[in-house]
Amino acid sequence: MEVRFFNTMERRLMPFEPLQSGCAKMYTCGPTVYNFAHIGNFRAYIFEDILRRTLEYFGYTVTQVMNLTDVDDKTIRDSKAAGLPLRDFTAKYKEAFFEDIKTLKIEPAEIYPAATDHVKEMIDLIRILMDKGFAYQAADKCIYFSIDKFKDYGKLARIDRDNQRDGVRISTDEYAKDAVGDFALWKAWDEADGDVAWESPWGKGRPGWHIECSAMSMKYLGESFDIHTGGVDNMFPHHEDEIAQSESATGKKWVNYWLHCEHLMVDGTKMSKSLGNFYTLRDLAAKGWTGREIRWVLVGAHYRKKLNFTLDALAQARDTLGKFDALFDRLRAVSADGDGSEVQELTETAKNAFASSLADDLNIAPALAAAFDLTRSANRLADENKLSKTGAEKILACFRDFDRVIGCFEVDAVRESAAIPAEVTALAEERAAARKAKNFAESDRLRDELAKFGYAVKDIPGGAWELKKL
Ligand code: AMP
Ligand code: ZN
Repeated sequence: MEVRFFNTMERRLMPFEPLQSGCAKMYTCGPTVYNFAHIGNFRAYIFEDILRRTLEYFGYTVTQVMNLTDVDDKTIRDSKAAGLPLRDFTAKYKEAFFEDIKTLKIEPAEIYPAATDHVKEMIDLIRILMDKGFAYQAADKCIYFSIDKFKDYGKLARIDRDNQRDGVRISTDEYAKDAVGDFALWKAWDEADGDVAWESPWGKGRPGWHIECSAMSMKYLGESFDIHTGGVDNMFPHHEDEIAQSESATGKKWVNYWLHCEHLMVDGTKMSKSLGNFYTLRDLAAKGWTGREIRWVLVGAHYRKKLNFTLDALAQARDTLGKFDALFDRLRAVSADGDGSEVQELTETAKNAFASSLADDLNIAPALAAAFDLTRSANRLADENKLSKTGAEKILACFRDFDRVIGCFEVDAVRESAAIPAEVTALAEERAAARKAKNFAESDRLRDELAKFGYAVKDIPGGAWELKKL
């Protein structure tokens, strides 16, 4: 099946054609580890998870690199405020990040390079840019990238170069589009950096944020690779600067497909640390919400659409997931004979709809609709006693298959509330035996016994039975 993605670079849908057949190499801008990530950040990481799981679903071998930004303006500022060495300060948030992605069932990337472990690679890259004349040292001793030297500067964010001011230099990691200018590759040490510094051919200092991603992606994925992702806020200046550095150094096209996810919003504004309108995963866990429920909310919207976050959406997620759970429990209890042909068409239609939707730029709504349709049909067949054990297993297998991408269908989980006590099952079996022997007085007595435990037994033509909670 052809897989298509919306390539931000070209602003259009394009069939995915990897550089190496059957392999997908992707780079993902990871967390800046100066605080607990909020669920806006996790929207981006979940989009990337759905992307990698979809690629795997279609048979690609994925190599994903996600960096950990453990040195930049913010990490230095906050480690000082906390009175901790940078490494100790960031270690806590790195650990929290890995715990959080586990809670959200985000498949781990193959490699998580930390910026502070790759300063040598960054210096090497800056040296190449200096040698080739793309970079220069200014009077403030910082090394800047000269955007005039790279004719394609602005191609991703579509920056109008004609109306640009000349001679602007920016040393901060983050800046707005109206500040377009030469950006820092290497920042000369100043007092605010404290003991955070590395030696370089240009004096003591530290790398800028953007050079990190160029150096680490090329180290692990090569000078050209397939996919680069991030949130839309990363497009400028971060990704634009990454492209300028990488392509100037190698003279080659760096990345073939750029995928950006839209923001998680709160009351019409982007969820962000600086605005204070955020929830961390831990905030929500303290309110009793599970990783699975949060994941369901974040998975449910198309990645290129803004998603408004509400606690109400979490309540709906609980309700919806509960219905899936009830279906899985019900399907597991089906015991009637049959070859499963009653679900053949149903499951095939659902699988095709699911796969073709995801192949179409991760179109999640129709993919989930396929799961909902299958749920309705399965319940209907069970209501009408038309479902065999084989058929029920085929439906469960279909959900297991969907879960390779969705990561929320706990098809085989034994739920506390759903687990039927062994003595209840034993009574139901005794009753079935009594009924088979046409000892109806005994079977009625056992039915009453079961009711005392809060269970009703439903007979299915052919001698099978199903237990239901009263
Ligand atoms: P940061 O740690 O700020 O570099 O952000 C890490 C990732 O989260 C980046 O890919 C950002 O684009 C993304 N991000 C930050 N805020 C949001 C948000 N409200 N919605 C979606 N993605 C976000
Ligand atoms: Zn990056």
